[in-house]
Amino acid sequence: MTPKISFEFFPPQNLEASFRLWDTVQVLAPLEPRFVSVTYGAGGTTRDLTRDAVKTLHTSSGLNVAAHLTCVNASKAETLEIAENFAKVGVNEIVALRGDPPKGEGQFTPHPQGFANSVELIEALTETGKFTLRVGAYPDPHPEAANAQADVDWLKRKLDAGAEEALTQFFFEAETFLRFRDACAKAGIDGDKLVPGILPIENWKGARSFAKRCGTHIPAWVDDAFEKAVRDNREDLLATALCTELCDDLMQEGVDKLHFYTLNRPELTRDVCFALGLTPKVAFENVA
Ligand code: FAD
Repeated sequence: MTPKISFEFFPPQNLEASFRLWDTVQVLAPLEPRFVSVTYGAGGTTRDLTRDAVKTLHTSSGLNVAAHLTCVNASKAETLEIAENFAKVGVNEIVALRGDPPKGEGQFTPHPQGFANSVELIEALTETGKFTLRVGAYPDPHPEAANAQADVDWLKRKLDAGAEEALTQFFFEAETFLRFRDACAKAGIDGDKLVPGILPIENWKGARSFAKRCGTHIPAWVDDAFEKAVRDNREDLLATALCTELCDDLMQEGVDKLHFYTLNRPELTRDVCFALGLTPKVAFENVA
């Protein structure tokens, strides 16, 4: 079995970054992802850039594009207008999120006329009847969750509100996802709706500090292995091996969909996909 895959990108902020995203798309598109998604900057900071990247990818890449959308710093009307504009250009897939508070603000405060939480956003988007919705999920519980069970219960509410699938935050050990999948099953959530988020680690220092910020548990053996690999300049080799092993362990347990956080760099994701048995589809006319 080879997995069905999808890729996350972030919107480029300048010309050089635009070329990098386009190169990434060129390398990864032949792996035929189910969809690619484009993030929405924390605090709504990349609203226009996300819109432009989504539109360009949709019209030029031939890929199925999903736009991330958060409730931060916008009224309900503004948020729904952004969604409506995606629908107008033919983008009907949304990753619907509450979002993180803007930098420096410790906790999420809804806009006075905004959606109070992700469930309200999902309900409103479902009501339009225009979108396929995906949401976030947290195998290592979200820092704001009262406990692991509360996190699972909240996810159930998001799916019941109309979301079709949940893409998870990244994690380091298959066991973490499998435990979460079991807890979800007990709460009546079909395991098929859970898509593990996979981060091929380009840069351990960055990944480590991001994991700490979002409450992802870092096993001591991973920290140790990367410290040695960084010292020996073999970070990429370790990242590819660990990421492939993680995906393989998940697939052995029946997982058939994987969502890769590419960080707009294609090499590690491509190498892991190749190692998992995916082969690029090349147009016949492009074969020499
Ligand atoms: P929710 O799931 O609604 O809330 C997070 C947790 O808090 C819940 O699991 C629950 O335990 C608790 N909680 C929140 N509200 C309630 C409530 N009313 N009652 C009970 N419990 C509650 N951020 C961006 O800014 N832009 C992006 O593009 C982006 N993309 C992401 C993609 C994925 C796949 C994931 C997993 C995360 C992404 N994030 C993004 C980060 C996300 O915005 C943060 O994790 C944010 O803090 C939570 O958003 P959410 O929609 O998952 O929240």
